[in-house]
Amino acid sequence: MNFKMLLTRRFEFDSAHKLGKEFGKCHNLHGHRYVLEVTVSGEIINGIVIDISEIKKIVNELVIEKLDHNNINNVIDNPTAENIALWIWKQLIKKLNKLYEVKLYETPNNYVIYRGE
Ligand SMILES: [Zn+2]
Repeated sequence: MNFKMLLTRRFEFDSAHKLGKEFGKCHNLHGHRYVLEVTVSGEIINGIVIDISEIKKIVNELVIEKLDHNNINNVIDNPTAENIALWIWKQLIKKLNKLYEVKLYETPNNYVIYRGE
């Protein structure tokens, strides 16, 4: 039998965003060092779940290159952590069919998790 396992790769990017007036101070343009953890799920075949370099290539191309050192408002409407995580999922699921979870830290204390539901 084959064993299933989760595998996570961590990324960081620096971006600016601003939210609507109802978000108080966050209405002003400000920056975060976002931490993104991308988890895939799959059977272990030849000792691995997935080639890590494949995750790195896909996430860099579809997410990091578009958001890092950018104003996220130029890419995503109302870029709350929730909406950014949804957008990241929609980008990655196109090329990463083993995608299991997107975890996005907006600060070390606040994060959201999306599993495609
Ligand atoms: Zn913010």
